[in-house]
Amino acid sequence: MAIPGLDDLIASGLRGKRVLVRADLNVPMAHGSITDDTRLRASLPTLQRLREAGARVVVTSHLGRPKGDRKAEFSLRPVSKALADLLDAPVAFCEENVGRKPLEAIAELTEGQIIVLENLRFDPGEEQNAPAFVRSLAELADAYVNDAFGTAHRAHASTAGVARQIPHVAAGDLLTAEIEHLRAVREPARPLLVVLGGAKVSDKISVLDALAPHADTLAIGGAMAYTFLAARGVAVGNSLIEPTAFEDAKRVEALAAEAGNKLLLPSDHIIAQEISAESPTRIVEEIPKGWMGVDIGPETAERYKNEARQAQTVFWNGPMGIFEIEPFATGTRSVAQGLAASGGLTVVGGGDSLSAINGLGLGDEIDHLSTGGGAALEFVQGLELPGVAELER
Ligand code: ADP
Ligand code: MG
Repeated sequence: MAIPGLDDLIASGLRGKRVLVRADLNVPMAHGSITDDTRLRASLPTLQRLREAGARVVVTSHLGRPKGDRKAEFSLRPVSKALADLLDAPVAFCEENVGRKPLEAIAELTEGQIIVLENLRFDPGEEQNAPAFVRSLAELADAYVNDAFGTAHRAHASTAGVARQIPHVAAGDLLTAEIEHLRAVREPARPLLVVLGGAKVSDKISVLDALAPHADTLAIGGAMAYTFLAARGVAVGNSLIEPTAFEDAKRVEALAAEAGNKLLLPSDHIIAQEISAESPTRIVEEIPKGWMGVDIGPETAERYKNEARQAQTVFWNGPMGIFEIEPFATGTRSVAQGLAASGGLTVVGGGDSLSAINGLGLGDEIDHLSTGGGAALEFVQGLELPGVAELER
């Protein structure tokens, strides 16, 4: 199904029109300052295009989890300042997100000017998708743009409800790029390789269930692999495992086998006795008592890398080891390099996976880095995201 994009909306003529943009300005903050402005930078292209089209741009977002209360530490005011710096243009701010104050402030904007409204989640109506809050938001604008893919899996007032109340809607450039690339994982050029890692099977059961029958090859690393190995009866020493997920692991293996797909597990491991950079490491095929798997071994890394080389599409979520600790980051680095060298389409999602890729300086070598987190995982499973569905409608 086609989602209306920014081109269509701009072509309809936006000069002087009020455009409500649901952006993702949910940046990490510490002591009142922004520690990583990736999401702000990612929001700029859509905002710039709307400015150039002469729209009066009304930017809304949530920040953190204020849970329906006005809490000073979650104010978007410092974020609006940072946005002004990045755009090198004045950005107005309104401490209310609906009602008379923003209506008046928006009326005073000049063509191409931006205003940021206060954190949507200061109002309980946002997360409840409450009809009254939806109507108040809709009153603010003539057109609506959703560019917040990271919250598209939530049916909130600003992501779903308001799209029904404003006649002209479109996906922003960021959201469009996410959908295009993640759709290419859902309907892939084959072979499709999915690499999954990270800490817990239980976090990703639904992803595993959905992708085991879908991916030609499912390569598993991270602590997750030890739950799979332990479920097979392999000794894993003190590795992080989830005995309550053994049945899930067996089911996922069966799903892959039924579909004739390959499910790969590590055949060698980097092990340590403690989770510390000073702890001596060994490379082994069998994990002895008292030791734990902290990373995939070099032979496994080479196998996964080869798979990436041969794949037409690769989706990766979850690091291969405790990559935050340098001596345990080798497997994650190898797989990242494998993706970088792949001739296929490469898509990476997940907070830790992105920080691993960016930390290695390989971000530019990957076709798409999804900032979507949970939304990306839901989308590749084939689930409908309310925020996307409302735009399609
Ligand atoms: P993402 O944020 O990319 O979705 P996850 O949050 O699922 O990834 O997993 C990341 C975490 O998994 C990291 O903190 C990493 O240290 C941990 N991890 C990976 N391998 C292991 C392992 N062998 N033992 C313990 N923790 C691991
Ligand atoms: Mg994580």
